[in-house]
Amino acid sequence: MRRQNFEELGEADRLLIETARRSSVNAYAPYSGFAVGSAVRTRSKRLYHGANLENAAYGLGMCAEVAAITAANSAGDYDIEAIAVVGFRFSTPPDVTQVVTPCGRCRQLIFEAGQIARTDPVVFSCSGDLEHIEEARISEMLPGAFGPDNLGLSQSWPQLRGQLVETVRRIEAAGAPSAGRAVKR
Ligand SMILES: [Zn+2]
Repeated sequence: MRRQNFEELGEADRLLIETARRSSVNAYAPYSGFAVGSAVRTRSKRLYHGANLENAAYGLGMCAEVAAITAANSAGDYDIEAIAVVGFRFSTPPDVTQVVTPCGRCRQLIFEAGQIARTDPVVFSCSGDLEHIEEARISEMLPGAFGPDNLGLSQSWPQLRGQLVETVRRIEAAGAPSAGRAVKR
């Protein structure tokens, strides 16, 4: 884990972190009063972002990192090389000075994405004011992790994914059911 100064980071990393912080404004966090924004950068250099999403059934809450990683995967762009997390308390008393790191579940999700993509994603954990930034590789943050390699998926997923794409292609080629068939009485 290395302490970083925002101004001394490269342009791509500053943009990633700024995107994460900007995304935090969309947090739905009425229960914790704690907003988190996250952004991922993929091998294609595109950025995807997300914010935390809480729920009256507390255990259903979703982390910002999950939203960002899901956004990348939903765009068919799952080769994640870096992720930024920016969090702060906005309820009284506000606190924008503590470094926010990914929770254990999110570390596992980042690790999985990295192993499938053959990257070791860089993780920027940041305070809301960006005065405190810690940089680490996911392999440092989750040592000895169990991942897709343990199940042989890194080899088999590309082929299985090909089958998925082919199945969808065949479904689409078969055409949509007619309105008459869709509305059965
Ligand atoms: Zn999390």
